[in-house]
Amino acid sequence: MEIDVLTLFPAMFSPLRESVVGRAIKRGLVTVRTWNIRDFATDRHRTVDDAPYGGGGGMVMMPQPVFAACEAAKAASHTPVDAVILLSPQGRLFCQSVAWELSKSSRLILICGHYEGFDERIRTQLATDEISIGDYVLTGGELPAMVVIDAVVRLIPGVLGNEDSPRDDSFASGLLEYPQYTRPREFRGEAVPEVLLSGNHEAIRRWRRKESLRRTLARRPDLLEKAELTPEDLALLRELKEEER
Ligand code: SAM
Repeated sequence: MEIDVLTLFPAMFSPLRESVVGRAIKRGLVTVRTWNIRDFATDRHRTVDDAPYGGGGGMVMMPQPVFAACEAAKAASHTPVDAVILLSPQGRLFCQSVAWELSKSSRLILICGHYEGFDERIRTQLATDEISIGDYVLTGGELPAMVVIDAVVRLIPGVLGNEDSPRDDSFASGLLEYPQYTRPREFRGEAVPEVLLSGNHEAIRRWRRKESLRRTLARRPDLLEKAELTPEDLALLRELKEEER
């Protein structure tokens, strides 16, 4: 996958050199290019923002440098662009299913806003998608872009060591993940549940599913309303409700 990021602060993307995403870049599974929008300004002050028409506070990102940066990014590779994504608190809400959807792409362009946001022509003519990482307002689109890149890149086949692990993650099946334990068997008076030491794969699978349902029921009951529940899940939920009594 190729990802081009248009930003006023390319240095903010150094965390992508670390950990899983950093290794994926080194192994050539993903290419991330950053483009400094300011390099595409046409005046000697390298201006990228201006006051809003109609008055009001703050500055608005001008269309010309963003369009020019996007055109340069598009021309940097022959790989067709699947989506030009504007990071915006007004976009569709980012979630695991959107990450899966984007992970199938060959090439993405992400545009990070700043100040009061973008001139509307960037939205109407350049962007093909708008993504928000949550109902709050950040100072810029750089952190949201890194959130999207991290969540998407770890789903690219071969990026995670264990191919199965993203399938078990929270949200993968519409539920939160079950509790995980590693050594030691007992830590500060708290023991690992006996079933996990039993070697009985069916009992472990059932316990994990039940704990996943228990956790989702307690913390995110809204997810249960949308999850595709099997007859076994419904039986486990009945068991959980019985245990509560
Ligand atoms: N005035 C804009 C509005 O109310 O929609 C907010 C502008 S915000 C201060 C500056 C930039 O940060 C945005 O253009 C966007 O790129 C980014 N941003 C802020 N919050 C975001 C969020 N929740 N999700 C994605 N991007 C966000």
